[in-house]
Amino acid sequence: METVPNISFEDTSVAFKYKSNVALRKASFIFGLINHPWISAIVIKMVKLALLLKLPVEGIIRNTVFVHFCGGESIDESQPTIVQLGKYRVNTILDYSVEGEKSESGFDNTMEETIRTIDSAHHSKNVPFSVFKVTGIASSDLLEKVQKKETLSDEDRKAFERVYERINKICARAYEHNVPVLVDAEESWIQDTIDTLSYRMMEKYNKERPIVFNTFQFYRVESPRNIRAAYHNATMNNYFLGVKLVRGAYMEKERARAEDLNYPSPIFPDKDSTDNAFNLALSFCLDHKQRIAVMCGSHNEYSNYYLTVLMEKHGMANKDERVWFSQLYGMSDNISFNLATAGYNVAKYVPYGPVRSVMPYLFRRAEENTSVAGQSSRELTLIQKELKRRRQAKP
Ligand SMILES: Cc1cc2nc3c(=O)[nH]c(=O)nc-3n(C[C@H](O)[C@H](O)[C@H](O)COP(=O)(O)OP(=O)(O)OC[C@H]3O[C@@H](n4cnc5c(N)ncnc54)[C@H](O)[C@@H]3O)c2cc1C
Repeated sequence: METVPNISFEDTSVAFKYKSNVALRKASFIFGLINHPWISAIVIKMVKLALLLKLPVEGIIRNTVFVHFCGGESIDESQPTIVQLGKYRVNTILDYSVEGEKSESGFDNTMEETIRTIDSAHHSKNVPFSVFKVTGIASSDLLEKVQKKETLSDEDRKAFERVYERINKICARAYEHNVPVLVDAEESWIQDTIDTLSYRMMEKYNKERPIVFNTFQFYRVESPRNIRAAYHNATMNNYFLGVKLVRGAYMEKERARAEDLNYPSPIFPDKDSTDNAFNLALSFCLDHKQRIAVMCGSHNEYSNYYLTVLMEKHGMANKDERVWFSQLYGMSDNISFNLATAGYNVAKYVPYGPVRSVMPYLFRRAEENTSVAGQSSRELTLIQKELKRRRQAKP
C-alpha cells in the first residue's frame, strides 16, 4: 500500500508563529478591509488619487499593507524579514518589485539592482534564488515586435542587443555565485521572446546544474506542449531544465485582448482545465526529475499537497534540492510554514522597493484578496482562526 505524506495546511499556530498578536491584528484589519469589494475599490481609487496629488500617504501605506506584503524599501531593510522567516526554515527570494520602468537608464538600474540581489543572496544562507521580470529590463513594445518578427530598425536592433546583454549579465552572475535565477512569465504577446531568451541562457549556464529557471503559466492552452518541447530541447542540448510552474496572473487582460483583437483566447476556458494542466505538469516534472528542477509557485492547497504526494511516490526526500515550493510574502503562510516545518524546501517571494514604486504590486494583492460571492478571503479566514485560537489558549 502506498503511503501518503502527513502534511496538513490547517495548523494556523505553525503558520503564524512568526507573527506577534499586534502584527496579526493589523493583518486582520487589512484583509478585513480589502475583503469588501466596494470598500477595496474605493480605497484603491483614493490611494491612487492621493499618490497622484503627491499627498503624504506613504507613511500610512508603509505601516499597513506595505509591511504586510513587502520586506522593506531596500535589500538592507529587508534583512530582518529574511532572518525572521529563516528561523522557521522558510527561505526568501528578494523580488525587486519596481514596475513601469521605461527608459534605458531605468532598465540598467533594474539590472544592477537584480545583480545586487544575487550578490546579497550569495552571502545569505536563507536566500536560495533570485528573480527578475524581463519587462523590468526591456521595453514591452520591443519584446512584442521581436515576437511578431517585425523588421527592426537599427535603433531597435541595438536596443534588443542591450536587452540580451542585461539578461546575460544577470544570468552570468547567478552562475558565478551559484544562485539560481527565476525568469518571471508575463503576457502571451511577449512571452515567446522571453522563453527564447531564457532557453539561450539555459544553454549557456545550465550545463552542470539548473541555474536559469523559466516560468510556465498553466492557464495557457499551449503550456503542456511548451513544457514538453522545453524538456526535449534540454535533452537534445544536454542541459538542465529549470522550471517554475504557475497558473498565471494576467487572465482578464489576456481574454480582453483576445476579444478586442478577435483571436482565440490563449487561456483555458475554465479553472478546472487550468488546475488539471498545472497538476499534470507537476507530475511531468517529477517523471523527468533527472533533468528537471521544479518550483511550484502556487497558493493552491491541493497542488502543493499533490506535489508532496508525487515526491513520496518517487521516493524523494522532502528536502530534495530538485523540488521547491514558493508562495508570496504575506500570503498562504499556512502552506509555506507547514511545508517548511515538515522539512520541504520553501522560499517566499519577498518584494521590496520604494513604497511608491511597489504600489502596482500592492494593488494587485488587494484585488486578489477581495471576497468572492460575499465569503471571507482565505487569508482573512485563517488569520481570524489564529486570533481566536490565541484568545482561547490564554490562561
Ligand atoms: C511564488 C509565485 C510566483 C509567481 N510568479 C508568477 C509569474 O512569473 N507569472 C505569472 O503570470 N504569475 C505568477 N504568479 C501568480 C500565479 O500565476 C497565480 O496568479 C496565483 O498564484 C494564483 O494561482 P494559484 O496557483 O495560487 O491558485 P488558485 O487560486 O487555485 O488559482 C487561481 C488561478 O487560476 C487561474 N484561473 C482562475 N479562474 C480561471 C478560469 N475561469 N479559467 C482558467 N483559469 C482560471 C488563474 O491563473 C488564477 O490566477 C506567481 C505566484 C507565486 C505564488
